[in-house]
This record gives sequence, C-alpha cells and structure tokens, in this order.
Amino acid sequence: MAREIKIFPDYILREKAAEVEEFNDIGDLIEDMWETMYTCKGIGLAAPQIGIGKRIFVAEVDQKKLIMVNPVIVHKEDEELMEEGCLSLPEIYLPIPRASFIEVEGLNEKGERIRVEAEGLLSRVIQHEIDHLEGVLIIDYARPAKRVKLEKLLKELNRRR
Ligand code: ZN
Repeated sequence: MAREIKIFPDYILREKAAEVEEFNDIGDLIEDMWETMYTCKGIGLAAPQIGIGKRIFVAEVDQKKLIMVNPVIVHKEDEELMEEGCLSLPEIYLPIPRASFIEVEGLNEKGERIRVEAEGLLSRVIQHEIDHLEGVLIIDYARPAKRVKLEKLLKELNRRR
C-alpha cells in the first residue's frame, strides 16, 4: 500500500533513524516503501519519508533494485556536482556534491550482510537516502542565507497544500 510522503518541515525528517534489529516484521514496510516510491515516481525512498524512523532505504536505478538496511558507507571516491530533488521537498532542486563512487555495507531485508559498489546516479541516490537516515536534507547543503530562503519557501508551499 502506498503511504503518504512526509513533507518538510515534518519533524521525522530531522530525526536520526534507529538501527533495525528485528527482521521478521519489515517485509510489509519494504513493500509499502516500493509502492510509495513508484506512486511518487521517485528513484529512492528512505523509511523516515513515510514516517518510520528505521534505517532502511529502497532505490531503483537503471532497473536495478536495491534494498538496504542499516547501511554504512565504507569508502568514497571522487566528487561530482549534480542537481537533486527530494520527494519530501517538492519543487526544490539544488546542486549537491556527492562522491561519484562508493562502497556501502549493510544488510538485506532478511538480515544477511551485503556489500554494494555504486557509481554515478546510483551512488548519488544511496548517499541521498543515507542522509535521510541521519535527518539530513538537500537544503542543508545550501549556503546559510539561501537555506533560510528555501525553508521559508517550503513552509509557504506546505501551507498551501
Ligand atoms: Zn529525499
């Protein structure tokens, strides 16, 4: 079932998500995350974006699907600047610097260890989603003056929804 996307300034987007320790009950949540992501035409979604403070994200780039639980970036290489949007920050697009190559360790939906190497867009999406697990949003990369303006604009947009 597709769930409602939490939009800035919802507090959960600023919380640090908790490590997942119990894997018996996350199957339905992950199903809902996929459905929500496809409904919103996103390419990645982190659990806090549907109001669940757990360290889980899903992503699909070039028809390659990835589910990661408790992900940790263990290696980063090079940097690339590219414009990014976020389902929780409608109508905002910002150039964000990200490592162009990363290695990530974590668990799959069954709690088994996985290690993923990613480059290009997938690398970017993974870094974006892991930021969500830390309560970090793309507006945090903007300079302070610009960030204040963006936050005002977002609150205004949210009021009109
Ligand atoms: Zn996002």
